[in-house]
Amino acid sequence: MTLLRIEDLDVHYGDFQALSGVSLSVDHGGSLALVGANGAGKSTLLRTIAGAHPATGGRITLDGTGITTAPPHHRVRAGIALVPEGRRLFPSLTAEENIKVGGRAWPLDRVYDVFPLIARCRNRRAALLSGGEQQAVAIARALASGPRLLLLDEISLGLAPAVVDDLYDVLAVLRAEGTALVLVEQDLARARAAGDHLICLLEGRVVLATAAADAPLEKVISAYFGTSQ
Ligand code: ATP
Repeated sequence: MTLLRIEDLDVHYGDFQALSGVSLSVDHGGSLALVGANGAGKSTLLRTIAGAHPATGGRITLDGTGITTAPPHHRVRAGIALVPEGRRLFPSLTAEENIKVGGRAWPLDRVYDVFPLIARCRNRRAALLSGGEQQAVAIARALASGPRLLLLDEISLGLAPAVVDDLYDVLAVLRAEGTALVLVEQDLARARAAGDHLICLLEGRVVLATAAADAPLEKVISAYFGTSQ
């Protein structure tokens, strides 16, 4: 059953059109990987779903309810949480204080069950955490609001592969518990492995939408670079 549906979405920054006619859907507990070159519109799409940037056309529904113009805090209450690119933690707050900023729908014990890594550094200021710990805290902060749909913007950026593996293991646990994911991921192999479905954006348009398992890497690469026939 469909959780998120986006129909014909347009988004502008002033006169510049960043997204054109984007349509997609994500099922309850489903997982969609978004790929595309720098500037393709991936972050814009996540931010627009979260309500951080307005749509200029089209429609977004969550569980059949229109949220196209709903403010961000309504969307959080409806079950959408964004893990933004660059983590955006409060550096002078501790890991635990940053997580509490996200809400109280998930008790801290549950957060630490999922992320034992953070339990060990819960009282350390965010500025003193490693990149992997900071990313874990950013995901935990999003989980604290109790999302049904988690939007993840390039969580792998700048992290060692082993650390990224650990984060993706956590995402697999969340999915098994029924949380739906939309994830922006530059590593195409990882994107194909983590998503049931995969969408490639090129200059703000969907140029490939496929079941991830059916997407040959060459086909994804040529959509990514705009060299498809
Ligand atoms: P990246 O992988 O580099 O993060 P992206 O696919 O996430 O790229 P976006 O950040 O969504 O792409 O940007 C899409 C387009 O919108 C780009 O051309 C970008 O320059 C433009 N853009 C993004 N933010 C703004 C802004 N605040 N003002 C004007 N243009 C913007």
